[in-house]
Amino acid sequence: MTQSLSILGSTGSIGRQTLEVAEQLSVRVAALTAGSNVERMAEQCRKFRPSLAVMASEQAADALRARIADLPIRVRSGMDGLIEAAELDEADTVVTAVVGMVGLRPTLAAIAKKKRIALANKETLVCAGELVMAAARASGAEIIPVDSEHSAIFQCLMGAHGKEEIRRLILTCSGGPFFGKKPEELHGVTKADALRHPNWRMGAKITVDCATLMNKGLEVIEAMRLYDLPLSQVDVVIHRQSIVHSLVEFRDGAVLAQLGVPDMRVPIQYALTYPERYESPAKQLRLEDWKTLTFEQPDYDTFSCINLCRQAITKGGIYPASANGANEAANKLFRDGKIKFLDIADAVAGVLDS
Ligand code: NDP
Ligand code: MG
Repeated sequence: MTQSLSILGSTGSIGRQTLEVAEQLSVRVAALTAGSNVERMAEQCRKFRPSLAVMASEQAADALRARIADLPIRVRSGMDGLIEAAELDEADTVVTAVVGMVGLRPTLAAIAKKKRIALANKETLVCAGELVMAAARASGAEIIPVDSEHSAIFQCLMGAHGKEEIRRLILTCSGGPFFGKKPEELHGVTKADALRHPNWRMGAKITVDCATLMNKGLEVIEAMRLYDLPLSQVDVVIHRQSIVHSLVEFRDGAVLAQLGVPDMRVPIQYALTYPERYESPAKQLRLEDWKTLTFEQPDYDTFSCINLCRQAITKGGIYPASANGANEAANKLFRDGKIKFLDIADAVAGVLDS
């Protein structure tokens, strides 16, 4: 089990829940990194006393230094700082919880140092999954998924004897806040509408990705990379309740699923404690309270982003990174009120075309 952690993106949704888990398990927190949220980082530094704290800019790092001048904590900034946190000798596990492809270089740095990677930052695997997985094979670093679907698959594959036994992976998808809507109903939707996810509280970027279903497209690629399977063996099913976190169908027709209440602390904790399991504060699943769990086909015409990701990974090369980059930019423009919701998919399609 993890003894000491470096958390890249500690002020975010996954980062904060990782700190809760670390506290519960009495795991040492050796390094924390954030973008610009100096106030929250200062609080985290006071509480967890890491050796190293990193901010995205030197200006934010200076502001942090001023706030924690009384603490023996080294403060760094930028990509060099993120890499220093990823490579820190003191940490045996690196939680990659930054948002976006800024996570790629620190992840590769941690892999080279043979750290366990608790991987939340899916954009890294979408952009450069082949490089990342090859680097992990070469160094022997373990990559344990934090994403709930991929953690579910990881758990369902325990005891499998090689990938020949797998017929397909089935990723579940909540459908997001606009499930059942048609394009004409999506023209005027706002950022606030898109941020109203039915089942999960997450960072803004991934919540918008869940509304466009781009998140599921990224997750299809993430699953292909993690489990080294072709696109034809990764399916998606809409499951509105987010109780079944994903499934594996084996060649004899047996299907294994992993279930639980939607609570990211469970997959985060498992990535830290694997192969062991410990008590968790997450609510118990009582199936009789749910009564009905539903499953259906996604509406691929209205939510075209899943198929755009499929096109990108089929073409391979730089296409997945381009699709991801276009989405990161368009998602941000939508959140800044500069483009409309349906423009996000158009932007990704346009970049892939050009
Ligand atoms: P948040 O937006 O809540 O947090 C992102 C973190 O990254 C924050 O600490 C933020 O700092 C930091 N950050 C942002 N931009 C930069 C930058 N340019 N340089 C350095 N640090 C930066 O995101 P989430 O926690 O929701 O998601 C993190 C990752 O985990 C994403 O890849 C997401 O897809 C994945 N994931 C998240 C899930 C969830 O439940 N939230 C579920 C499954 C996967 P600051 O606070 O200062 O802005
Ligand atoms: Mg997920």
